[in-house]
Amino acid sequence: MKDVNFSEIYKKAKNYEDLVSSYLSRIIKTPAMSNNEKDRIMLLKSMCEQIGFDEVKIDGLGNLLARIGNGPKKLVIDAHIDTVGVGDQKAWTKDPFSGEIKDGYIYGRGASDQLGGAASMLLAGKILKEMGYKSDKWSIWFSFTIIEEDCDGLCWKYLIESEKFMPDLFISTEPTGLKIYRGHRGRMEIEINLKGLSCHGSAPERGVSAAYMASRVALGIEKLNKELKPDKEKFLGKGTVTVSMMKVSGPSQCAVPDIGYLYLDRRLTTGETKELAIEQIEKVIKKYAGINQSEYNINVPTYSKPSWTGKLFEQELYFPTWKFDETHPFVSLAKKTYQELFEAKAVVDKWTFSTNATCVAGRYNIPSIGFGPGLEKEAHAPNEKIAISDLPVAAAFYAAIAFSVEDF
Ligand SMILES: [Zn+2]
Repeated sequence: MKDVNFSEIYKKAKNYEDLVSSYLSRIIKTPAMSNNEKDRIMLLKSMCEQIGFDEVKIDGLGNLLARIGNGPKKLVIDAHIDTVGVGDQKAWTKDPFSGEIKDGYIYGRGASDQLGGAASMLLAGKILKEMGYKSDKWSIWFSFTIIEEDCDGLCWKYLIESEKFMPDLFISTEPTGLKIYRGHRGRMEIEINLKGLSCHGSAPERGVSAAYMASRVALGIEKLNKELKPDKEKFLGKGTVTVSMMKVSGPSQCAVPDIGYLYLDRRLTTGETKELAIEQIEKVIKKYAGINQSEYNINVPTYSKPSWTGKLFEQELYFPTWKFDETHPFVSLAKKTYQELFEAKAVVDKWTFSTNATCVAGRYNIPSIGFGPGLEKEAHAPNEKIAISDLPVAAAFYAAIAFSVEDF
């Protein structure tokens, strides 16, 4: 490949600031909540075709994939294009789907989380085409994926397992404030069913109350949360566990209840797996409920909703942790690319929330980083916005790294 001038990439991106702003404004104006992304996917498909990507296709689940280059290896640059809902409409001072461009910002649901990333990807594609990107080794795939807000990583579990579409390198364009991110905590949801023994409420000593049992387990979980340790590197921070719901029931309100139910939210740091988390819960139940194995069960619930194409692809509500070291070759390459492109040192950090990388990096250990326009704190908030000046910076980075992976 011919030598590429990074300053030309950055200059081009900055010259296209109005264009990338109009891309984002158009995307925001077509709403798309999880499992209802059809209209936005169709819009993005026509935008990719207009820009002239080498291949544009929609997979069986309804993800949009656009390629530039013909090489066998895949650098994937990913944006989920679904958003959460509006929430409290009264908290918004602007129409959440206005896509209004004003005073250096673009407004609307998804502006930062994470349609800005999608718009910057479109501009990166345009720049790569204009610069005649060619490689015998790599293809640059731009993925516009779905259902992330409801079940992060499910779209990629589907792509990898059902479509056999396996990235070699992965970049999530979720908001990082233009920093390079190299990990985030994982999470899982856990259900606990406890079985007591019901009896008449007039003689509670004859029964085993699921209410007291569930309460003791809940207090045991509180204690477990305090005992959880941070990761060795102290990068991702401490895992957490909390009871998010409890229910007890029995044959009547004049009886000792025999059914106890707890729902837990567990955040996982480096080294904490699903198996470990379940083992810890099992210990709490044994210690605090004093019942044997046949009287309780622990379950990780399954996400089970059809996508906009009608395809049902299920997965358990377990989202593994991921992290790559600061010295990992892909993190190093990203830092080097940033430095050469912007003549400044990159800041390396992590997300607080979870992203599609939970599947790609967490389940499949594919080298991954995050780099995106916009701020994490804007995500899911009313009056969501993004600074326009972030968009060309992100686009330039995606175009530049497409060239710099050549010898990776
Ligand atoms: Zn997001």
